[in-house]
Amino acid sequence: MAAMGAGIIDRYAAYLPVTAATPRVTLGEGSTPLIRSSRIGPSLGIEQLYFKYEGLNPSGSFKDRGMAVATAKALEAKARTLLCASTGNTSASAAAYAARCGLRAVVVVPAGGVAAGKLAQALAYGASILVVNGSFDVALRLVRQLAGEPGVALVNSVNPFRIEGQKTAAFEIVEQLGDAPARLFIPVGNGGNITAYWRGFTELQRRDGRSRPVMYGAQAEGAAPLVRGKPVPRPRTIASAIRIGNPASWNSAIAAKDESGGTIATVTDAEIMAAHRRLSREEGLLVEPASAAGVALLIKMASAGRLSDGGSIVCVLTGHGLKDPQALTRGLRLPRPVRPTLSTLMRAIG
Ligand SMILES: *Cc1c(COP(=O)(O)O)cnc(C)c1O
Repeated sequence: MAAMGAGIIDRYAAYLPVTAATPRVTLGEGSTPLIRSSRIGPSLGIEQLYFKYEGLNPSGSFKDRGMAVATAKALEAKARTLLCASTGNTSASAAAYAARCGLRAVVVVPAGGVAAGKLAQALAYGASILVVNGSFDVALRLVRQLAGEPGVALVNSVNPFRIEGQKTAAFEIVEQLGDAPARLFIPVGNGGNITAYWRGFTELQRRDGRSRPVMYGAQAEGAAPLVRGKPVPRPRTIASAIRIGNPASWNSAIAAKDESGGTIATVTDAEIMAAHRRLSREEGLLVEPASAAGVALLIKMASAGRLSDGGSIVCVLTGHGLKDPQALTRGLRLPRPVRPTLSTLMRAIG
């Protein structure tokens, strides 16, 4: 196996749908740290709590794992354009990998629905950006109509190579822990990532008989179609990455929950932001709001005594905090400049 630091295609080629002819596209994605909780876990009475910090991927989210494989397969198929609908991170990732490989990226995003950092990324990487009056679900329906067009590769998670690339995060967790965790908490939007993790753990079970974790998916209260059992026409939440009303990977997300004996449940925006604050202030881990949803569900369940003790728990932190600076500073005031005197400094130290 190739060393940590190589991209996921090199490291996991034997378990991915690639051949010797598939270009080894990489920006160094994957190999993200699994960080043991220093304060949240102990405060909940959970001894082995870990965070898989996917915000440290090259464009700042886990989408890069899937995008590496999807881009490699697009190149192999002689595509010239990567096309996607996006709540932000898919477009940032597609734009980065397209730039890397000399492809065009065309990204379709909902007006007002994308965090500032993500849009800035797509612009900086040189993507063509189409802002549409409509939700993410409308944007996805639109781009899916062009999926079969020659020269165009649709790189949303309906692209099976995305899920294949993303399953490598489950491989890494097992390598890092030395075993599968007992439980995995993960935010759920379109349902692609929970599908990918479950596939990864399932493949490891077939390969070497490992147990699989119980899967806990977190949806935002105002955008919880998988919990309600029907699409949500106007999804609402501060966590823009999971503001999705009609998940493309609906059935496979439900299957991951059911086969693992787990649950998909809701957390409120207030619970998401409380978890977000605790990750920043008690762990030193900066994430975007959606990434805190899994931790919010863990805190909610543990506080209600709904997690019987024992075994390791992994929370997937899906995206970096700098993606969404507005959410970070909401309700906070940046300090105003003062005179640079010893007395003002002494007062600040307290
Ligand atoms: C895409 C994304 C999600 C949701 O993943 P799905 O595969 O759509 O369920 C969660 N958090 C972040 C930061 C994302 O970018």
